[in-house]
Amino acid sequence: MKIVVTGGAGFIGSNLVRALAEVPQVREIVAVDDLSTGSCDNLLDLPVRLFEGSVLDPDLLDEAVAGAASVVHLGALGSVPRSIDNPICSHHANATGTLTVLEAVRRHGVPQVIVASSSSVYGANPVLPRVESLRPMPVSPYAVSKLATEAYAVAYATCYGMSVLPFRFFNVFGPRQAANHAYAAVVPRFVSAALSGRPLQVHGDGTQTRDFTYVGSVTDVIVDAVLRRVSAPDVVNLAFGVRISLLELISELEEVLGRPLEVVHGPPRAGDVRDSQADSSRLRQLFPSAQRYPLRVGLENTVAWMSARVPAAR
Ligand code: NAD
Repeated sequence: MKIVVTGGAGFIGSNLVRALAEVPQVREIVAVDDLSTGSCDNLLDLPVRLFEGSVLDPDLLDEAVAGAASVVHLGALGSVPRSIDNPICSHHANATGTLTVLEAVRRHGVPQVIVASSSSVYGANPVLPRVESLRPMPVSPYAVSKLATEAYAVAYATCYGMSVLPFRFFNVFGPRQAANHAYAAVVPRFVSAALSGRPLQVHGDGTQTRDFTYVGSVTDVIVDAVLRRVSAPDVVNLAFGVRISLLELISELEEVLGRPLEVVHGPPRAGDVRDSQADSSRLRQLFPSAQRYPLRVGLENTVAWMSARVPAAR
């Protein structure tokens, strides 16, 4: 089977390509990526054909998705702060990009499309854990663009009978997540700062919580979804319902590194949600074998990957 991964040169995408490369039924892997935040280095030595360009380009998508058994649409501009700085760019890449991918999938009759939404869509809704039936209350342009992503997928299932699987990811982390840009996520930022001896910058008091998900859990579930051609008429949280504060995350990192870390606190950031924790009942129903990697294991793998690649930073 041929699998297309948009955003395949990015963090989750390249980990997914790596996982798919191990699956005997997968004969061909195609990545579509404009390399805006991803990197060819993430795909070095992997059996994948990269179509370099945007998911906003229908001709490129026609070439890439022809004959695919599944399209996993991960290509997007991540980050809440990035979307606050430039909401139109985030909207184009994430909302219009998804629509363009769904149209290509429809034109080519691809039997399955998986899309990546985000826990940020729950936003200001105070109810925990986040069960999928809660009313989305996005508080950033990024969250709105991800709500559009999942809603378009559901609408395409309804209107065109397409098999879709819209996931909501929750703070995914692991090897190959970029640390070296202004909009880096919290785990790579902390690990990179810790390895280079800089203080860890916390926005707010650090008691805000997240359902940190190791990337291996995400790729395991997506591979399973592709192989069993799982679809769902509505969104599915892809996280395991474990709520960890930033201060707890830092303690765990201190244990992994075997030393205390300096922390500086700044003001809370606009658009950030206070707490996040998935209800994973729907995930468990659809993917009974889904496994959560312990935070410690995920952090150890992340630290090992980052310190091997940034030796000067230690
Ligand atoms: P990433 O930035 O590492 O990967 C995204 C990839 O998409 C990059 O390689 C980038 O170059 C590519 N891209 C961006 N715009 C594109 C365009 N117009 N055309 C083609 N490629 C484009 O981010 P990631 O963390 O791997 O995220 C993957 C997906 O998961 C995204 O859709 C993101 O919104 C979603 N998500 C991630 C998290 C997380 O915690 N990492 C949480 C929720 C949702």
